[in-house]
Amino acid sequence: MFYTSTRNNNVKVTASKAITDGISPDGGLYIPESIPQLSADEIKALCGVDYKERAKKVLGLYLTDFSKEELAYCVEGAYKDGKFASEFVAPVVKLRDNVSILELFKGPTCAFKDMALQILPYLLTVSAKKNLDNKEIVILVATSGDTGKAALEGFKDVEGTKILVFYPNDGVSPMQKLQMTTQEGENVGVCAVYGNFDDCQTGVKNIFTNAEILERFKKNNLVFSSANSINWGRLAPQIVYYVSAYCDMVNNGSVKFGDKINVVVPTGNFGNILAAYFAKEMGLPINKLICASNANNVLTDFIETGVYDRNRSFFTTVSPSMDILISSNLERLLYILCGRNSDTINDWFGKLKADGKYTVSDDVKAQVKDLFFAGCCDDVKTAETISATFKNYGYLADTHTSVALNVCDAYIEKTGDETPVIVASTASPFKFSKAVLGAVEENAKDYEDEFSTVDALEKIAALKAPEQLSALKGKAVRFTDVTSKENMADVVFKMLGI
Ligand SMILES: *Cc1c(COP(=O)(O)O)cnc(C)c1O
Repeated sequence: MFYTSTRNNNVKVTASKAITDGISPDGGLYIPESIPQLSADEIKALCGVDYKERAKKVLGLYLTDFSKEELAYCVEGAYKDGKFASEFVAPVVKLRDNVSILELFKGPTCAFKDMALQILPYLLTVSAKKNLDNKEIVILVATSGDTGKAALEGFKDVEGTKILVFYPNDGVSPMQKLQMTTQEGENVGVCAVYGNFDDCQTGVKNIFTNAEILERFKKNNLVFSSANSINWGRLAPQIVYYVSAYCDMVNNGSVKFGDKINVVVPTGNFGNILAAYFAKEMGLPINKLICASNANNVLTDFIETGVYDRNRSFFTTVSPSMDILISSNLERLLYILCGRNSDTINDWFGKLKADGKYTVSDDVKAQVKDLFFAGCCDDVKTAETISATFKNYGYLADTHTSVALNVCDAYIEKTGDETPVIVASTASPFKFSKAVLGAVEENAKDYEDEFSTVDALEKIAALKAPEQLSALKGKAVRFTDVTSKENMADVVFKMLGI
């Protein structure tokens, strides 16, 4: 299996090279030359094994220049017993008839990013051995909150790597901020940016593709890579949990083997739902892919109209990890749907850069509409959904998951489709305690600090907050720097001492 670039069809690299680079030098995203298939018999066999075995099978189809032993080393290390607070790693919970929840937040940082960022450091260090002669890897991360912490935790003290995270100064929850600014490890750095997530992401992409900066790195025996979902090493591990969820739904009787399911995903950068698309194209029985957005509903409009237009107000919402107007991974989907034509992608994404807007062809628009349903909901409806889900089913959902639950109901109401649904749940409610508590507490009051809010939420929900979050109370803050978006490169140089 080789990988090409969405911006240049002539590129042909191995999986390990794609993972080492993070992004193709032409600015495109690496993508497998074809989508490998899983037969019904193979899926059936996966129903009888655990998450690690499922991961080895699925990843093995994509990472073909990894030996069996290398892959086993990566998977066993990432998902070893005790790392995730569930023996299933990503457990499926039944909410009501025909609606199940896929809990992707059982990892060390309580968000779905752990699913991929626990394994990425393994994939990257194995890949680097094949492609770099002893250069040190510098991981740059732009985060809307959860990726930053998950990447820091995954890469902390990993030999041969340094990691630097940029987050929007006013764009993350207090718990997310505390998780990052208290990060331990000798090879880590964290810096806030005056700007939003898109500014952070653009800043990082600009550093990656700046020839002068790359030269300075080379001189110092350093190379960049990315832990954002532009890195294929982030995407591939996410395909695994959709296959795993299907198997678990078969095993618990929610779906008959071979029958289809719908998948609902709270979406920001389009990485998670793109993984579901790959699972579907591999042969997993998936009917509709339902894309849920918050008030930043650029994807809802795109899926409806075929016009991607980021020229609109940016909203800071209670689901900050979805506060995004440039969904990077959409580029991979459109590359496939337009017939794998990098000229077309260069045209559309050139327009996005120049005018903030592009329109896809009628054919691509029709394919998008056939594959996807899209919906969005604002903060008020998010809170109503948290409250109703808790009242009716005793399930405490976080703000992002609730956006998905809201859009799930809207889809069922609109279409009458009774296909069993799996809703991706992407974070622990205790990461967004203030908003969640405000939704479930009668006469909500303002608590003094984040941890009194957590305490109150624990009482009302009769749940224990994850230990990793409670342990942040009183922990020393290590990182307090804030930079302008123009000065991000200087922050990188300073941290690296070059
Ligand atoms: C990152 C994130 C999302 C969005 O996922 P994408 O892959 O960027 O679409 C949704 N919810 C939470 C909690 C997240 O951390």
